[in-house]
Amino acid sequence: MIIGSGPAGYTSAIYAARADLNPVLFEGIQPGGQLTITTEVENFPGYPQGVSGVQMMQDLKQQAQRFGTEIRNEIVERANLSSHPFKVETDKGNFYLADTIIIATGASARWLGLESEKRLMGMGVSACATCDGFFYRNQVVGVVGGGDTACEEASYLSNICKKVYLIVRRDVLRASKTMQERVLRNEKIEIVWQHKPIEILGDDSSGVSGVRLENTQNGEQKQVELSGIFIAIGHTPNTEIFKGQIDLDNEGYIITKGGSSHTNIEGVFAAGDVQDTIYKQAITAAASGCRAAIDAERFLCEHKG
Ligand code: NDP
Repeated sequence: MIIGSGPAGYTSAIYAARADLNPVLFEGIQPGGQLTITTEVENFPGYPQGVSGVQMMQDLKQQAQRFGTEIRNEIVERANLSSHPFKVETDKGNFYLADTIIIATGASARWLGLESEKRLMGMGVSACATCDGFFYRNQVVGVVGGGDTACEEASYLSNICKKVYLIVRRDVLRASKTMQERVLRNEKIEIVWQHKPIEILGDDSSGVSGVRLENTQNGEQKQVELSGIFIAIGHTPNTEIFKGQIDLDNEGYIITKGGSSHTNIEGVFAAGDVQDTIYKQAITAAASGCRAAIDAERFLCEHKG
């Protein structure tokens, strides 16, 4: 059983299916995973011209299906890993038993936690420039965050929008040098250093009209007018249903043993962003999916019968 449909899940499915392990893959809440809400993927080897995240995930899905992976559009809501075979229950009320499980549930976008952010969600507040950028053509927007995601979103939006404020809470960007340079060179992007949003302004009928920012050094406040704001401040691993069963680190990421995909439970493996606190790339997720399938195959061979 493979839980998750990002690069890690599909790669483990391709390997497991080719090894005749009859994998069943659960797509989860966001079929295709995080890459379906990014723009161009330019750093995955084999695509000299780049590829859209959506296209890449469709390709991976087809490749997994070609070798016989059974793909189910269900969300795993409960898992009992205390006895073998493992048992899971999905949102459709179905129960499944598995000899081995590969957890590839990834990580989800983080929010600021403001009441106004929640209230104006979908009314100008978004976590996905590719999905929603189109609605802000020739308008002024903001992006919150200083990592690769925030810089990528800001660059993408600068092609569509009149102006992009990149709101960064420190005086440095966390993003890679290439992304930093791309943003710093871009005349349509203005970086608002050392500020954080304390309130998203707007009402339920006309949507977002601005953001109130606080200077992180001296507490001074200012208001910026904009019609859309994109939150890009990192991710939380999707491990809620495994809490108390699988060993997790302080941030909730699954702990794997010595560079392998083994978790603390024999027969349960983890791959992709759900266990990756450092690299978090499509290519590293895919590679760890391959490792998990090989580890699962060895486990099944050793425990035959
Ligand atoms: P990161 O954790 O790298 O960055 C999060 C950013 O958000 C940081 O600048 C952080 O500030 C800021 N932040 C966090 N919480 C708040 C808050 N409450 N208010 C304001 N700002 C906040 O997350 P990313 O999603 O950007 O990237 C995750 C990983 O994915 C990284 O390893 C990245 O390299 C990778 N990635 C790679 C891409 C590529 O190669 N094409 C594309 C996108 C992501 P601070 O710096 O002060 O902590």
